[in-house]
Amino acid sequence: MTPTATAVSTRCCARSDVGRARRHNEDRFVIDGDEGLYAVTDGMGGHGNGEIAAGIVGETIASYLKEHPAPWRWEGAEARAQARVDRLRRAVKEANRAVLRAVAANPQLEGMGATAVVLLADEGRLLVANVGDSRAYRLRGGELEQLTSDHSWVSEQVEAGYLSQSQARKHPFRSVVTRALGGDEEVVVDVREVKPEPGDRFLLCSDGLNAVVSDEQIRGLMLDVGAPDDLCRELVDAANRHGGPDNVTVLVLDLDDAES
Ligand code: CA
Repeated sequence: MTPTATAVSTRCCARSDVGRARRHNEDRFVIDGDEGLYAVTDGMGGHGNGEIAAGIVGETIASYLKEHPAPWRWEGAEARAQARVDRLRRAVKEANRAVLRAVAANPQLEGMGATAVVLLADEGRLLVANVGDSRAYRLRGGELEQLTSDHSWVSEQVEAGYLSQSQARKHPFRSVVTRALGGDEEVVVDVREVKPEPGDRFLLCSDGLNAVVSDEQIRGLMLDVGAPDDLCRELVDAANRHGGPDNVTVLVLDLDDAES
């Protein structure tokens, strides 16, 4: 009997919508409760190829984790924690290689790629990984925190002080990502560990949400709307009320309150 993969009790819901301007939905999400895997991936590449890339990324991460269970380490908690981080990073890197292999096998897919934001619940810990501009947020004690850094051109400009957040949201280059799966052979995957607390509420989303809905509006909805499925619908509706210029995908994960 191996240790259980998920010791974090959760409620989860996701919703993906084509939006008001696009013909294809190139976003995908993955929910695998057995593995404690939650992911959103946003495909790019045109001609509907983005949805192929997004599909490959979601499936590869899920199957890699299934085929490579977290190794049991007797060296102690620190070694186990590092092994879990490495495992998730390898899963995302494998997704990168899988997209590149698909392109190598079919040159018509040239240029396709995808982002990934992944939340993995494992032995009572949470890991967050990302490549690209899909985001993870956490609501705790009424405060909203973005857990991921966007790998995007505008985000680099904001960090360097050349653009404000609101200028970035309207900038013509706002959807240019500086890292994606399916780009280079080697991809840098950000992974961080987040200590879960009872009552935490997590949101994974594609940029179709945060490009048009401000963090303050996202925070308000995450505070006010109780049930995860209602919250998913409200978030998608908010993006579409703001024009729905892009596909929008949201995944909400609620950790149970203590003793409930
Ligand atoms: Ca997008």
